[in-house]
Parts: sequence; C-alpha cells; structure tokens
Amino acid sequence: MYTYKVMIHPNNKQETKIRRTLNKCIECQNIVYDYLDSFIKNNEKIPSCSDVRKWFTIQKRIKDNETINKGINLTKKEMIENHLDTLFYDVSNDALKQMVKDTYNSFVRFFKKLGKYPVRKSYKDRKKSFYVDPYKIDFTDKKVRLEKISNNQKPNRQVLNYINMAEKNRIPLGVKYYNPRVSYDGTNFFITVGVDDEYAPVKMRNKVDDRVIGIDLNNGKIVTSENISYPQPTRDSSYRKTKKRKKRLQKALSRKYLVCNPENKKRFKLSNNYKKNKALVIKLDKRLRNIKEQKHIQIISHILSKPPKIIVLEDLHIKEMSKRDSRIEKTYKEKQASKNITEASMRKFRTMLSNRAIKHGVNIIIANQYYPSSQKCSICGNLKEMKVDKRIYKCEQCGLIIDRDLNAAINLANYIKK
Ligand SMILES: [Zn+2]
Repeated sequence: MYTYKVMIHPNNKQETKIRRTLNKCIECQNIVYDYLDSFIKNNEKIPSCSDVRKWFTIQKRIKDNETINKGINLTKKEMIENHLDTLFYDVSNDALKQMVKDTYNSFVRFFKKLGKYPVRKSYKDRKKSFYVDPYKIDFTDKKVRLEKISNNQKPNRQVLNYINMAEKNRIPLGVKYYNPRVSYDGTNFFITVGVDDEYAPVKMRNKVDDRVIGIDLNNGKIVTSENISYPQPTRDSSYRKTKKRKKRLQKALSRKYLVCNPENKKRFKLSNNYKKNKALVIKLDKRLRNIKEQKHIQIISHILSKPPKIIVLEDLHIKEMSKRDSRIEKTYKEKQASKNITEASMRKFRTMLSNRAIKHGVNIIIANQYYPSSQKCSICGNLKEMKVDKRIYKCEQCGLIIDRDLNAAINLANYIKK
C-alpha cells in the first residue's frame, strides 16, 4: 500500500464546510467517548460497536433538536462561537460513522494493551481529520470532489463542486482507493489516499555494495565513518533566522492580551491583533519543522545515493543525554544544552533513515547501549575516559589523534567485525 498526501485549496464556501465537518466530527467523538467512558467508570462491559452506532443515530436527532432550540435567541456570530451553526444532518454521514468506529477502536486498543487510555478531543486541537467514502470520492487530474462538501445541483455551477488540488497529475485515476481522509494541520488542508503498490511512483535506485558504515549522531553534526560530516539542520542559518523571528513574535504576543477585569487582573485573549499574531507564530513553527525535515531528507538521500550493505547506529538515550530529570537543578548553560539536544530531533532522523533504508535493501543495526563508541581507540582498541566537552581524541598507546565524532563513527562501523 502506498499513500499519497496532496494539499488542497478549497474556496471560501468549501473551506467553511470542511471546517464544520471537522468540528462536528470532534463533537461526535466526544459524545461517544462520554458514553463509553461512563460504562468503564461503573465497571460494566461496553456494548458492541454496532450497538453504539445504533445508539448514536438516535442521539444525532436529539442533539440536532437541541441545537435548533439553543440557537433561537443568539446572533450568528455567537452561534458560530458556540458551534451551533451546523447540524449533524448537514454533515456527511460516512465521516460520522467512521468517527464512531475510530473512537470505539481506540477503547478496544486500550483493552488489548496496545495503547494508552483515550482522551477527550478539543476544538482547539491543531490536527483534525475526517473520513471520506472511497466510492463517493471522485478525482480528475487537477481536482477532487467530496461528498456533502461541494454538492451544487445547478447545471451551470458544476465546476464549483470540485476542490482544487495543489499538484497536477499526482494521484492515479480510475484505481481502487483505500481510506481517503481530509486533514487539517493548523494552516493547510490535505487529502490523503492509499492505493495498491503497483500504482506507486517508480524510482531508480542504485545497487547495494559490500560496505559497512557507522553513523554518529549529536546535536551539532551527523558524521559517517567515511569522514563525511553534515551539520544538523538546527545549525542552519535559515533555521536560526526563523527561530529568532519566532522568539520576537512570541514576546510581542504576550503583550497583546486584553485585560478585561482590572480588579483581579484576569487576562483575556480576545483581541484581533492577538489572533493575527498567533496565526503567524503557528506559521513560523510549521516552517521550522519543514526546514528540519527537508534538511534531514537531503542528508539521508545523500547517504543512500551509494547504499552500503549495513548501517550501524548507536542506541540513543536522549533522556540521559539531556538530563531531563526535574530533580536535578540546572544552570542556564545546561538548560540550553538540553534544549539543543531535544531540538535536533535525532530519534526522528533515525526512524526516517531506517524507513528509507528498508526500501533500498539496506540493513540497520543498532549498537548495544553499553558499547563504548566514544571512549574506544579506533585502531588499537584502548579504552579511555572522554569528557563531553573534549572534541579531539588522543590515544596514549598508539599516538592516534582524531576528531571525536569520526572516531565514534569508525568504532560503530567496526561493531559487527569483532
Ligand atoms: Zn590507540
């Protein structure tokens, strides 16, 4: 199965309809959550999935009547703020049905000890999504049609029924689609759809040779045993500039509260300037994540342009590295150092690298946690204590002078030979 994810550009009417569906799905999820949660609190067995779905269809009608009664005396703005402007009737039934199933499955996963206890959703959550029936979705080379989002009946308005996609000719037409979903990440809308493997884009890949390489990760750079070092994306100038801008905007944001009650100085964040700045901060946050991911992808594709037989990585124990223990008091410098370590998102790099490597036919081996990769001499095997701030390794037995990270990477490459 291969998944396509393409950004969509809905117009204003389509966008409000998508937002309404997303909000209604959250309401649906919370109704089902409360229902199932009440059973567990009373130590009773939860009903079957089909029973829950039947129960929800009755609830839908009751809730719709409630919404109509509540909204009689309110203005339009107040109705939108309280999420009373839509009925369950207006929203695609398939999306709601799947939401009930998903919520039910999250509880089943908890009982099978595959996941944590599910949580209640909030309208403020940044990531939201809903399901679309694969038989009711319709793609053209540039556009997509969704159920109940764009359903104008007038013959001269049919063009507006389709939502524009950001990429042309990306998704294959006339094939079987699996689990299509519309998602929102705080700034943009996307459509994701799964297809069979034979419709995935074809890529040329080089053959695997007999080399074994080790890769040493730290918050400053990524070093391979072949003496190629890549700086971490967090050290990149574009990243640093964007981060500085974000910091400044966040400072300004803290001044944009409206103090409504001067007696107890309770702060309310209702001003329009607050909302404008908040949107900017979210946008910059996303840009930072994108820069990081893009740079990591570039590094990975450079490593895999000549794919080795085996890649050896060290076992990360980031909690220990960043000393994220609240009981230990930290100085300003230590706090900054631990922030840098978590910011470099090394674990994400590792999972991305191993996912890519499998597709190329490269094996990934993770060294034992107690393997002394940075303390060992890469030529004679002499062990020596190394402090964190020492950047150069000097061996007293054979007189080797070598960069600390390169030494560790070579040791990792020798991990299997011993
Ligand atoms: Zn030595």
